[in-house]
Amino acid sequence: MKIKKGDKVQITTGKDAGKSGKIIDINLQTRRVIIDGLNLYKKHVKPRRQDEKGEIIDIPRPMDVSNVALVCATCKKPARAGYQVEGKKKIRVCRKCKATL
Ligand SMILES: [Zn+2]
Repeated sequence: MKIKKGDKVQITTGKDAGKSGKIIDINLQTRRVIIDGLNLYKKHVKPRRQDEKGEIIDIPRPMDVSNVALVCATCKKPARAGYQVEGKKKIRVCRKCKATL
């Protein structure tokens, strides 16, 4: 997977298409990512005690990694990431501007 936690990505499809945010969680098994503050859904939280009120909170819903694109910090555009091998290290780079991602 070319995307990792903390990456800035842009959503490419769905109701939040075009918005960008930071990856806060990744599930490698399901290949789904959670983006901070995006792809939200409303969740009803039941009161746990009698004097508490139930409330509705927004929770970011995991989305398929194929629906997001990495945003390059240098050219500020959704970038396709590539890899360059330097010595023994593989470095992730932006295919457009060649900056290290
Ligand atoms: Zn770039």
